[in-house]
Amino acid sequence: MSTIELEQLPNNVEMESLPCPLGCPAGNEFVLKGRDRLHDLPGEFNVIRCKTCGLMRTDPRPTPESIGFYYPESYRPWARPSKNNSLPKEKPIPAWKRTIKNLLFGKPLIATPPLPSGKLLEIGCGSGSFLHSMALKGWQVQGIEYSAQAGEAVRELRYPIHVGPLESAPGPENPVDLIVGWQVLEHLHDPLPSLKKMAQWVKPNGYLVLSTPDAASFDFKLFKHRWYALQLPTHLYHFTPKTADRMLKAAGWKVEKIFHERNIGNLIASLGYFLQDYLGKTNGLANYLEKFPSRETRLKIFLIPVARILASLGQTGRMIIWAKRMGD
Ligand SMILES: [Zn+2]
Repeated sequence: MSTIELEQLPNNVEMESLPCPLGCPAGNEFVLKGRDRLHDLPGEFNVIRCKTCGLMRTDPRPTPESIGFYYPESYRPWARPSKNNSLPKEKPIPAWKRTIKNLLFGKPLIATPPLPSGKLLEIGCGSGSFLHSMALKGWQVQGIEYSAQAGEAVRELRYPIHVGPLESAPGPENPVDLIVGWQVLEHLHDPLPSLKKMAQWVKPNGYLVLSTPDAASFDFKLFKHRWYALQLPTHLYHFTPKTADRMLKAAGWKVEKIFHERNIGNLIASLGYFLQDYLGKTNGLANYLEKFPSRETRLKIFLIPVARILASLGQTGRMIIWAKRMGD
């Protein structure tokens, strides 16, 4: 077990405890106790499960005013790309390379529905690399981003961007065909109103595509408080396919498809956390594994077949959800 002493919370960090956002009657069960393993910031947080709907949430959790403390400047999704060449290139992958790759590893998962290029809004667009890749495919793109630093990078790419929290963001001027949010939903203090609002932002037959960790996966069950995708306390909700479906339905969305990312970075980093607890924070192997998801290594190629098998079994720890506006 970890023997790290938890420091006191700084005075400016306030905690709150709220009922289930789906309006269920009171009644929760304790799931686990954890801490911030990504940046080693102080505090202990419980994950509890609503006895009525099964939705898991972090409780107590930092208030919306205090949560910034847990997003230090080094928070990776907000970092500017170090080189311009980290943005997707206009040059497509040669067909022969793609064919070989597909033969070896299977065709890549298509993260967004097969729509003709139209208008796209990305929530939590970071420094804009996904927006850029979609713009190159002919989409008219715009973003909403909480971090001013990341938002500035999008501005430099000359894409329309609203910097600020999603909760208070104005909608797009005209309805869009597609809204995407990669690893955003679990960070929202009150996701239901935002999901409802977004249902008004799409055209009839418009899509919402989200990705979020899957807390029904076997790596969560195996690693529990050491699960890499738990990311306490910035992850305020811990969805499963069932609870994500329930919340989306309550917000006016109909889930069309849920599938899993072909990525086992989660599993490997969780193993790193486990080894750190047993072999010590200075153990080389433990630290290598913990940092694996952010590492550029060719080793990842060899893990693709494993990731593919786990993804097809719905067990990679990260799911992608396609939802359509209800009533269309
Ligand atoms: Zn509930």
